[in-house]
Amino acid sequence: MMDVAIIGGGPAGLSAALNLKIRNKSFVFLGGSENVTGLMKAPQIDNYLGFKGISGTELVKNFRDHAIEMGVEIKKEKAYNILDMGEYFSINAGNEFYEAQSIIIATGHEKAKYIGGEKEYLGKGVGYCATCDGPLYRNKSIAIISENEEGEEEANFLSEICSEVYYIPTYRTKPNLKDSIKLLNEKVKEIQGDGNKVYSLATDKRELKVDAVFIVRDVIPVNQLIEGLELCDGSIKVDRDMAASIKGVFACGDCAGKPYQIAKAVGEGSVASLSAVRYLENKKG
Ligand SMILES: Cc1cc2nc3c(=O)[nH]c(=O)nc-3n(C[C@H](O)[C@H](O)[C@H](O)COP(=O)(O)OP(=O)(O)OC[C@H]3O[C@@H](n4cnc5c(N)ncnc54)[C@H](O)[C@@H]3O)c2cc1C
Repeated sequence: MMDVAIIGGGPAGLSAALNLKIRNKSFVFLGGSENVTGLMKAPQIDNYLGFKGISGTELVKNFRDHAIEMGVEIKKEKAYNILDMGEYFSINAGNEFYEAQSIIIATGHEKAKYIGGEKEYLGKGVGYCATCDGPLYRNKSIAIISENEEGEEEANFLSEICSEVYYIPTYRTKPNLKDSIKLLNEKVKEIQGDGNKVYSLATDKRELKVDAVFIVRDVIPVNQLIEGLELCDGSIKVDRDMAASIKGVFACGDCAGKPYQIAKAVGEGSVASLSAVRYLENKKG
């Protein structure tokens, strides 16, 4: 059992990890894909003190190198679901499960809009983790809608299990997919079903008969990540200690609201980690 699980490997999560390391706490740091933080797209940053004119990619590299040099281990896994078990939390990270006494959420700003039918059919054919749920659709037809390259690996894996795999990227780079996968550069309209399960996915060009639709998002909607967390204007509601509405859960950076800035993310990551340390000490009594 770890003291803390940090979810999200951007500036907020890295800052939290660094401070937990300094405070000698045990933690698992699920950073997700290292290329996903939007900050890497920033050509020039002028408002982060001490680093005038630095590019986003370079700054992220500095942050990561600093954390790694201090002994922080960054796992590339993504958290799909966090269960509140009362005295601790259980984290589903695809093929792995972790347990921690407290959680720091640093998953960034949730930009994506829900697709029609997504909420209605979640768990009834709609899922966010193809590697976790894909085996349920052996010899069936599935579609993957992906916001980033992570989806390619999932599609390649599922092409070995499913009869038909359709891949619909919402990003620009050319996907690297096995030949059997049908790449569709189409606009997704709606996920359709009979009330109990998915039967098709409508795009602007056709209706695909599918048994499941996996949506690979940069940021998993926070309500799907952990149930019952209070939100405020779409962000996680926190107090000045970065404590969220569930005891033992802290949030920092863009997922905790505006302004969406590096300095705020780094500062809040530090506050969240120190609050988690205090929470653990109080818990011990
Ligand atoms: C193009 C662009 C330019 C910008 N320019 C500036 C600027 O000049 N100055 C400035 O101050 N700010 C700028 N920003 C904003 C800045 O990038 C953000 O405020 C900052 O990165 C927020 O840090 P964060 O750690 O909260 O979130 P992010 O940087 O978004 O990091 C979140 C991380 O969590 C990971 N993640 C998400 N969900 C999960 C999960 N379920 N499990 C595991 N990992 C997960 C993601 O992969 C990502 O790596 C810019 C943003 C963009 C997009």
